[in-house]
Amino acid sequence: MIILTLNCGSSSVKYSVFNTAHGTMLARGIVERVGLTGSFISHTVGTHEVKIEIKCLNHKVAIEHVLKLLVSSSDGILENITEVNAVGHRVVHGGEFFIESTIINEEVEDVIAELSTLAPLHNPANLQGIQAARDVLPKIPHVAVFDTAFHQTLPEYAFRYAIPSRWYDEKKIRKYGFHGTSHFYVSQRAMQLLGDSMKKSRIISLHLGNGVSITAIKDGKSIDTSMGLTPLEGLIMGTRSGDLDPGVILYMMRSENLSPEELDAILNRKSGLIGITTTSDMRDIEKKATEGDEKSHLALKMAVYRVQKYIGAYTVALGGLNAIIFTAGIGENSPTFRNHVLKDLEFLGIKLDEKANKKAIGGKEDQIISADSSDVKILVIPTNEELVMAQDVENVILRRNIKIP
Ligand code: AMP
Repeated sequence: MIILTLNCGSSSVKYSVFNTAHGTMLARGIVERVGLTGSFISHTVGTHEVKIEIKCLNHKVAIEHVLKLLVSSSDGILENITEVNAVGHRVVHGGEFFIESTIINEEVEDVIAELSTLAPLHNPANLQGIQAARDVLPKIPHVAVFDTAFHQTLPEYAFRYAIPSRWYDEKKIRKYGFHGTSHFYVSQRAMQLLGDSMKKSRIISLHLGNGVSITAIKDGKSIDTSMGLTPLEGLIMGTRSGDLDPGVILYMMRSENLSPEELDAILNRKSGLIGITTTSDMRDIEKKATEGDEKSHLALKMAVYRVQKYIGAYTVALGGLNAIIFTAGIGENSPTFRNHVLKDLEFLGIKLDEKANKKAIGGKEDQIISADSSDVKILVIPTNEELVMAQDVENVILRRNIKIP
């Protein structure tokens, strides 16, 4: 099948086109500054990238531009747009309603809209993209792929917060978890790479990018994860605080008279690495830390320590550990960060092969970086959320016996 995947933000549309028969990506790109002045598309086929300035009022116009490019004589990959069999849409929050990818109809759109209260920054933009794409491509199936779906296997004792039950019963306040597509993909790859020994597996997957999350995966299922009701909980991120005593929020609200909007901006955009230093970029922090900058050194140490605490906690939650996976920008590219996280964990049977670790950069290939004597396998697996989306779309269509034109 030829699948178009879309990941719509409030002012951007990320896309890719897959041929699922060969598992190959035919093209990918991004439309930026949707609804603003100075919109443009960066479109990549193989290693060839073109950047085109466009006028782009809204998501519908953005998607129309993308479709035109896909069939254009110079940069196109399709003869005719009717070759696209289905569209997969990334949706951040699926709440408790969606435990797997789902064919989109009016009812599904309504639920995604209702879930906007839980993900006000993401779901409305995802929905705008869905509505625009269904308008432009009305004859083919559209499938929603949820960031939260993989974590719907968490047991209740792990996903509930110790707050009044009414908050859960009426408002569905609980841990949902995110980056599900990424954690699913890398854990499946690890099980394939490590073969039979991983059939009964206890895996910790570390998605270390600008957003950071860690997931405990037992026999292929997520049993705990660090992000919560929103992607703010858990590890220290580029601009997000991660775990915090809720008392800090109350104290600052009272002492500086902060509004919910101000607090939202501080905790989501001005905290984490950028809050401690002045940058959210791990490359800069690592460099400055080696040059003796104290704040960068502290930020690095804090980020590493928080990851180590979660590895300890999840090893207990899993009842042991067979493999640790590193993925996303920092996980795939930073031997330094991986080394800091793992170097003191030999007592858990975790032994890094330092040479292999140094070589694993660039995010192109799956690599095993544990020493032969390590009880726990350590892997670097470049994440591929778009491929999972495309495969999921195909699976849903085949499982439901949906006719594609
Ligand atoms: P992502 O959100 O997956 O694109 O990851 C972004 C993060 O990865 C940023 O903090 C980058 O600084 C970090 N990153 C990318 N390349 C490297 C590298 N070579 N060393 C350290 N951090 C990196």
